[in-house]
Amino acid sequence: MSQNALSGLEQALQERGYRLTAARRAILAALADAGGHVTADELAAAVHRVAPRVGRMTVYRTLDLLGELGLLRPVYQGTGAAHYVLLLDGHHHHLVCSRCRRVIEFDECALAELAETVGRRYGFAVEGHLLEFYGRCSDCSD
Ligand SMILES: [Zn+2]
Ligand SMILES: [Zn+2]
Ligand SMILES: [Zn+2]
Repeated sequence: MSQNALSGLEQALQERGYRLTAARRAILAALADAGGHVTADELAAAVHRVAPRVGRMTVYRTLDLLGELGLLRPVYQGTGAAHYVLLLDGHHHHLVCSRCRRVIEFDECALAELAETVGRRYGFAVEGHLLEFYGRCSDCSD
């Protein structure tokens, strides 16, 4: 999965005319290694381990860039730092347990039609979505 994520990210940047600098490669690789779930500080630390010359600001700027390109979204859970999640194929889905905070990833998606409908209604060019269902996981349901 992480190899696919990495090549997907590299390809997406190149298609949009961004150069794959050594710093960007290191950041994308760390992001893919993390399974596409990471805080900015965790990512900066992971990048620092393999590429000590890549500064924290470069990591933050790259996160911003990926966000602008619709490849990444911040998720806020509680009061902690934002978690960044990859929207590799334009979407990302979670089941979030409100009791134990477990997060389950799932791939099934039936939202393409809805995105098109609301996009048309509001003249909005939908580029991706992040979906979270909240509730109780199987360990936590009574
Ligand atoms: Zn639970
Ligand atoms: Zn996720
Ligand atoms: Zn979806």
